[in-house]
Amino acid sequence: MDEKFDCIVVGAGPAGSMAARILAENGVEVLLLEKHPEIGVPVSCAEAISCTGLSQFVTPNPEWISSFIHHVLLVSPSGKKFLLHHPDAGFVLNRKLFEKKMAEEASFKGARLKVNSCAVGLLDGKPDGFHGVAVLEDGKKKEYGAEVIIGADGVESWVARWAGMDSTLPLGQIESCAQYLVGEVEVEPDRLEFYLGQSVAPGGYAWVFPKSDNTANVGLAVTPDRTSKKAKEYLDRFVKERFPHFKVIETHMGGVPCFDRKISLVHQNVLLAGDAGRLVDSLSGAGISNALRSGKIAGEVASQYMKKGNRSSSYLRRYGEQFLEEKGRELRFYSYCRAIYLKMTDQDLDDAVSFLRDYFGNRTVTSIQPISLVKTILQSNRHLLRLLRHLVW
Ligand SMILES: Cc1cc2nc3c(=O)[nH]c(=O)nc-3n(C[C@H](O)[C@H](O)[C@H](O)COP(=O)(O)OP(=O)(O)OC[C@H]3O[C@@H](n4cnc5c(N)ncnc54)[C@H](O)[C@@H]3O)c2cc1C
Repeated sequence: MDEKFDCIVVGAGPAGSMAARILAENGVEVLLLEKHPEIGVPVSCAEAISCTGLSQFVTPNPEWISSFIHHVLLVSPSGKKFLLHHPDAGFVLNRKLFEKKMAEEASFKGARLKVNSCAVGLLDGKPDGFHGVAVLEDGKKKEYGAEVIIGADGVESWVARWAGMDSTLPLGQIESCAQYLVGEVEVEPDRLEFYLGQSVAPGGYAWVFPKSDNTANVGLAVTPDRTSKKAKEYLDRFVKERFPHFKVIETHMGGVPCFDRKISLVHQNVLLAGDAGRLVDSLSGAGISNALRSGKIAGEVASQYMKKGNRSSSYLRRYGEQFLEEKGRELRFYSYCRAIYLKMTDQDLDDAVSFLRDYFGNRTVTSIQPISLVKTILQSNRHLLRLLRHLVW
């Protein structure tokens, strides 16, 4: 064993850095591993987050915010538009800087951060779990010991697989995404745009999220079992139509997992946080806020565990219980919404956008209750109400 820590966090994304910071604040000896040489690079994300989704966990800082969002535009398959005005809708982050700051903060609080350090396996040997992590660090094999291991290694989570946690994603349970950071385009710097329709993005949607008044994240997500074409083919068509003259600055491909309540977040002394535990809003694909929340709770529970004299790994199950107590209902609700969304025809989407336009008019909205809004939309559409009876939840 090269060195021993109380806790090892694999992955310095939002979930991992948050967990490491909380552990360090509680005086726990924590190692934070990141396989890339630079934190936040590459980052495959459209970078949008709501005000509340961020500020519950981190104080927003203009240093790592690209745009402040006050309007949201929804465009239906036939081109119907609904513009929502919300004074504090959210932000488009500069995630490269945001992630660096998050990891830096964890390190300032006392976490040991190692970049260019890829976890390559878990070390067996403990009766009720794993006694550490095997790491390829700057090309050299190392072994680090730990009482608790937090897998915050994203959608492809190898930590989950090594721990024997079922993390396979069927085609219908993942969104396949393609995104360009484009320049030399004209965008409203305080407006998110969403485009719906089977020909735009089957089973998903396209987005234009401004990074400034002439750059934007333009991307889309498709459900792979809905189309034989790749997300990038849809994106190439969409971006040309939306911005006849554009320059591609960066290209990103990636997958977004859908929430699955059957997936366990804890096995023995291994905890999964963020995308590794599929803690994503299945309708929008948003996962940053849940990554922060799950990292925080995982860090708190692991800290309490380390302070106990007589430790039983069953105590760690509190992490999964607490996360689901706080967010389980909402994530299940978004899973139902996605099931409904996948059944909607282009006509239904047109009707829903028209309904929203009439319902909200031109007024400024300061808060939205998603559950009651979805109920109201469904009640406005007899076809959807009929469909609901056939959905198996
Ligand atoms: C195209 C796209 C657009 C998106 N847009 C949005 C959006 O606008 N808003 C939103 O809220 N969400 C969005 N998401 C989802 C969001 O990006 C994720 O939910 C979020 O990044 C999850 O954070 P995380 O910390 O769990 O994982 P990640 O951000 O994936 O971080 C995991 C980290 O672990 C590291 N790692 C992986 N394996 C190892 C290993 N073996 N050893 C060491 N390190 C390892 C990785 O390098 C990475 O740094 C989008 C996703 C995609 C693909």
